[in-house]
Order: sequence, then C-alpha cells, then structure tokens
Amino acid sequence: MKKLSPFKKNTGLLIRIDDIAAHMKWDLIQKCEILFDELNIKPLLGVIPNNKDEEFLKYEKKDDFWHKVRVWQSKGWEISMHGFDHVYNSDTMKKDFFGYGGKSEFYGHSLDHQKKRIEEGLKIFKKEKVNVRSFFAPNHTYDLNTFKALKANGIDYVIDGYGLKPYSEFQINFIPQLFYKEIMLPFGIQSTQVHLNYMSNENFLNFVSFIKKNSSKIINFDKAIENIDNNILSKLSRVTIEKSLKLIRLF
Ligand SMILES: [Zn+2]
Repeated sequence: MKKLSPFKKNTGLLIRIDDIAAHMKWDLIQKCEILFDELNIKPLLGVIPNNKDEEFLKYEKKDDFWHKVRVWQSKGWEISMHGFDHVYNSDTMKKDFFGYGGKSEFYGHSLDHQKKRIEEGLKIFKKEKVNVRSFFAPNHTYDLNTFKALKANGIDYVIDGYGLKPYSEFQINFIPQLFYKEIMLPFGIQSTQVHLNYMSNENFLNFVSFIKKNSSKIINFDKAIENIDNNILSKLSRVTIEKSLKLIRLF
C-alpha cells in the first residue's frame, strides 16, 4: 500500500448529513446520492429513529424510508443516531456541555431517562436491521449524563465537539464538528453539518460545488476514527478552538 504523508493522513472531512427521517426534502437527498455515488463519497447520515419534530413532518413522506436507509448502509454509508424523536423539551441556558445554548432533547434529563431514549432508538434501528455505532444530539446539546447513557448503550462515538482531530473523553470518541457552513480546513479531521431541509436551491448548488472541489479530501467514518488523537498538543488546540469559536458566536 502507498504510504500517505503525515499531513495527508491527518487531513479530511467527513460529510455529516443531519435530520434524515421519513419526512424530508427527498429531492435533495436523491441529488446527493447521485453526486456521492459518482464521486465515491460515503457520508454519515444522522437518522432520527422516531421523528416527531413538527418542522420536519411538513415535508414529503416516503413510506419505504427504512428500506432506503438499508440501501444507503449497503453502499458503505455510515448510519448514525440523531436523537430519538428530535423534539426539544429542555432549555440549556448555555450550560450544555459544548456551550452552544438553546433547546435540547437530552440536556438536563435524568440519566435513566436519557438511557431509555437511546435504548428505544437503538431498538428501532435493530428492528430495521440497521447498524449504529455513533450518535449526535439535536442542536449539539449534551450533558454528562448523555455521554454516560450512550456508553451504557454501547455507543462509543459522538459526531460533535471542538478540535482539529478526533479525540476521546469520558470513554467516548468525538469527531469534531466546528462550523455551520461547509469549510475545508487545511489541516485536521472534522465533520460538516449539512441540513438539506433548510437549503435553498442556491445553498444546494454551493454545497455541490464545495463537494466537487474537495472530493479528494472527503473521508468516510472509518477513516475519521482511524487515529484518535489524545496528545497534549491536540488537547491544547481543542481548548483554543473552543474559546475562539464561542467568541465568534457571540457576534
Ligand atoms: Zn437535527
């Protein structure tokens, strides 16, 4: 096998697509599928196992949704659990783990409650014969119980967090997700967040050209978790990035 330079080995972007459910903008995910197949890109899809979010329920519904998820899985796309029903029922008052603030489906609930929701979600995936090994919460909002609840349910990966590279904390591996827009950093391994439901035609065209331009740097989930980096330098860089991004969000 060809040896990659350390620089290349440590640079990559995982495409995380949020809010995948029976009700969504199907025309856009279908366009993505054609594009990804063409460029051999394997994204990570955040599937809501029991979607009850009213904002999404207004979109077109596909009855063979879970069949579609299995097809994506068979293509090597990573299926991730994105909350349980995507309904916010607590307010973080900016005290959530990553300090994003806003409403949450998980933050502030008891460990038992959070464990149950994750367990129920995983049951649905199992019934539908879909394998899941990662999670990300709606609105990026977690507390320490969320990580304990994930761990108790055998989930080791969270697609969120600050940093230039995947790292582990509380026995959970985090793949950082830094920006609202698609941005390719010159160094590091992160994930995007892509919300097809909120995209205008123009947004979507920009997304397509971003993907085409950066396709050689786009990696799959397995590649992203290949080298979890816990050395002291990356810990320091995490703290700096967290501070600067929180500052930027204030303006
Ligand atoms: Zn979401």
